[in-house]
Amino acid sequence: MAIAKVEPLTTARALRGPFDYRLPAEMEGVGVGSVLLVPFGRRRVLGVVVELADRSELPPGRLAEPIEALEAGVPAELVRLGLWVGREYCSTPARGLELVLPPGTGTGSSGRRTRPRVELRAELTVDGREALDDGARLGSRQRAVLDALAAARESRSGEGSGLAAAQLAAACGADRATLRRLKQRGLVRLVESESRRRPSMRSIGERPRDVTLTADQARAARTIAAALGEPDAGSRRFLLHGVTGSGKTEVYLAAAEAAIARGRGVIVLVPEIALTPQTVTRFRERFGDTVALLHSRLGAGTRYDEWRRLRSGEARVCVGPRSAVFAPVRDLGLLVIDEEHDSGYKQEGDPRYDARHVARRRAAECGAVVVAGTATPRPESWIELERLELPDRVDGRAMPAVEVLDMRGADRRGGPLHARTTEALEGLRSGRGKAIVLLNRRGWSPHLSCRSCGHSWGCPSCDVSLVIHRRDGRLVCHHCGHAEQAPDACPECGSVTLARAGAGTERVEDLIARLIHPLPVFRLDSDSAAPADSHLDILAAFQRAPAGVLVGTQMVAKGHDFADVSLSVVLDADATLRFPDFRAEERTFALVSQLAGRSGRGDAGGRVLVQTLAPGADAIRAAASHDAAGFVAAELERRRRLSYPPFSHLVRIEVAGVDPAGVEGDARRIHAALAPSLSAGAELLGPAPRFRVRGRHRRQLLVKAADRGAIVTAVREAIEGLATARALRASALSVDVDPQ
Ligand code: ADP
Ligand code: ZN
Ligand code: ZN
Repeated sequence: MAIAKVEPLTTARALRGPFDYRLPAEMEGVGVGSVLLVPFGRRRVLGVVVELADRSELPPGRLAEPIEALEAGVPAELVRLGLWVGREYCSTPARGLELVLPPGTGTGSSGRRTRPRVELRAELTVDGREALDDGARLGSRQRAVLDALAAARESRSGEGSGLAAAQLAAACGADRATLRRLKQRGLVRLVESESRRRPSMRSIGERPRDVTLTADQARAARTIAAALGEPDAGSRRFLLHGVTGSGKTEVYLAAAEAAIARGRGVIVLVPEIALTPQTVTRFRERFGDTVALLHSRLGAGTRYDEWRRLRSGEARVCVGPRSAVFAPVRDLGLLVIDEEHDSGYKQEGDPRYDARHVARRRAAECGAVVVAGTATPRPESWIELERLELPDRVDGRAMPAVEVLDMRGADRRGGPLHARTTEALEGLRSGRGKAIVLLNRRGWSPHLSCRSCGHSWGCPSCDVSLVIHRRDGRLVCHHCGHAEQAPDACPECGSVTLARAGAGTERVEDLIARLIHPLPVFRLDSDSAAPADSHLDILAAFQRAPAGVLVGTQMVAKGHDFADVSLSVVLDADATLRFPDFRAEERTFALVSQLAGRSGRGDAGGRVLVQTLAPGADAIRAAASHDAAGFVAAELERRRRLSYPPFSHLVRIEVAGVDPAGVEGDARRIHAALAPSLSAGAELLGPAPRFRVRGRHRRQLLVKAADRGAIVTAVREAIEGLATARALRASALSVDVDPQ
C-alpha cells in the first residue's frame, strides 16, 4: 500500500502531524513535496507530502484518500528546509512549509489557486502566405491579420511563433470569429500555448560600462570560484568586506558566472524589494533571460511563472529579497547576500526567520558557497566567515572626510540643522551640487503638546505619541496606523498655542527647500514612496536634476549610486543609539557609514556632516574615521564582556492580549513551564512589560544561553505543551529566535 505522510497547512499549534493518507493508483506520481487537497476532520485542507511509506500504523479502514493532487509541487530539498525553519524558529511545520510553497497555492483566505496562463495564438500557414502574395479575396480584417502575422514572422519580434489572439484583437480588431474563419480557410493555425507573465524590470542608474576587475576584485572572485569547485563547497562561507563603492556587485557577477559555468544555480538576496530593480538589471545584462525575479509585490501570475521557470531549470539565477532564499533554484551552487548587515533580512511575521541564517543552512545542505557582502560587517559574520577584502573604491578616490557636529548646546536658530549644515546646504546654490540628507523619522514632528496645560496627543490604542503629518493635516500613529485630524486647539483647556517638538523628514524638507530655493528638494520615505515603484520616480527625478537635495529616512542610505553627490548629512545620528537594544551600536555605525558612502563618488569630491548629541560614541567616531575593522573589534569585545550574541543566543517570547491580567498570567505560566527545562547556564528574564500596541497589552520573556539548539528546543516544547493543554487563554504568542 502506498502511504503519503502529509503535513496539513493549518495554523493550529496543538496539532501533531504528519498524518497518513492512502494513495490511490491514479496518484502514483505523488512524491515528497507534492501538494495535496485532503479531507481533514470535517474540512478539506491543503497539505504537503513530507514522506512516503508503504505501510501505516493505522488500520486501512481509517485511512482516507487525498481528494486531489495539485500540479505544482515543492522540491524535496525545500520541504526539508521548510520543516527545519518551522523547528528552528519555534514555529509550526505548516508555517515553515508555507514559505516554500509555489506562489498562489491557495492557502490564503480566498483559497484561489494561481495557474499557468494559456493563450490562443494564431500562426500563418503556407496557404496563408500564398493568399497574401496572390491577392486572394480577403475581408479587410482578415487581410490585416495575415499582414500582421507576416510582419511578425519577418521581425521575429513575437515571442514564440505567430501572435496572440489578444494582440491581434488590439492591433487589427480581429475577434475570435475572424480567426476561426481564417482557420477554416486553412490560412492560419490556432494553437493554445502557455504564455509567461514577465515582471517589469525598471531601474534607474547609469548603464554599467564594460569593466576590467581590479586586482582586489579579481582575487576575491578567484577565491570564490575556486571554492565552488571544491568538494567542501557547502562549508565555504565568505564575508566580502568592501567599502562603499568598492565594486562588490562585480564580484558577485563574476562568482555567479563561475557557478553557472559549472552548471550550478545562483540566488542573490537583497535587503528589500526596493533594491531589486538595480540588482536584477545588472544580472540580466550579464546573464539575460536566465535571471528570474521573485518578490511579494509581483502580480500573482508573474510570481507563479517566475517560480516555475526556476523549478524547471529554465532560469538559473534568482534575485529577490529575503523570501528568495526559498526560491526553487535547481542545484544551487552560490548564495549571495548583498548588504548582509541589513535588518531587512529578518522576517517580522511567524516564523521570524533570518534569511542569513536560513541561507547558511540551505547552502550547507546543497553544497553551495555563501558570499555575504557589506561595507559594515556584523560582528557575528566577522568571526564566522572567511574574509575577502576590497579596501579601496574602484575609482581610486579617497573616502570622503567626515565632520561630526556636536548638537549639545548648539545654536538652535536653524531648528534641527547645525549652523555648518545650513551653510553647507546653502553652498549648493552657488556650486550647483547635490546632497543627500538622512533623518530616520518621518512626518513633520514626532510630538504635539499643549503649551498651557501640557496635554499631549497619544494613540488611543498604543502607548506612543502621535506624529504630526502636516502635509495631510493629520496626527498619525506609526505603530498601528491610527490617524486623526490635526487639532486647532487643546481639547482639555481650549488653548490654541500648541507646541510641536522635534523634526521629521517633512519638516526638514520644508526647511531645506527655503534654504536652497530655487533648487529642488525631493523627499523619499514610506509616505512619499507609498505607491508601488514610486521610490524609483523619486530617485530618478533626483538623478536627473542638475542640482538639489534628497531628504529621507534610511531608504536614502541604501545602495544607490549617484556620481554627483558631493554632500551627505546625517541628522540625529544617535537616534538609533537611544534604542534599548544591544544592536544599537552596530546599527548606528552601519547607518552613518552607509550614508557617508553615498558621497563623493564623482568628480565633485565628498563631504559628510554628522549631527549628533553623542559625538563621543564609539559607533559615531568609528564611522567618521571609516574604521569598520576597529569598530567590529571593539564591539566584539563589548559583546564578549556582556555575553551578548555571537557569544550567546537569545530567544524572545512575547505574549499579547487585550486583558492585562490575563496576559500577565499567561506570561507567568510560560515562565513556569520553561524554567525547569533550561540548562544551568541559561538565563530566563521577565516577564517584563512592553508598551501597548493596537490595544494589546504585552509582556516579554527573554532566554539567553550559549547553546542555541538547547534553548530553542526547550522553548518549543514548553509552548507546544501549553498549547496542547490549552493552558494559554488570554494571549497570542510570538517567539523570536535571534531577535534583532
Ligand atoms: P558597492 O556595492 O561595493 O558599493 P558597486 O558594485 O555598486 O559598489 O560599484 C560601484 C560602481 O563602480 C558601479 O557603478 C560599478 O559599475 C563600478 N565598478 C565596479 N567595478 C569596477 C571596475 N573594476 N572598473 C570600473 N568600474 C567599476
Ligand atoms: Zn491644554
Ligand atoms: Zn497606535
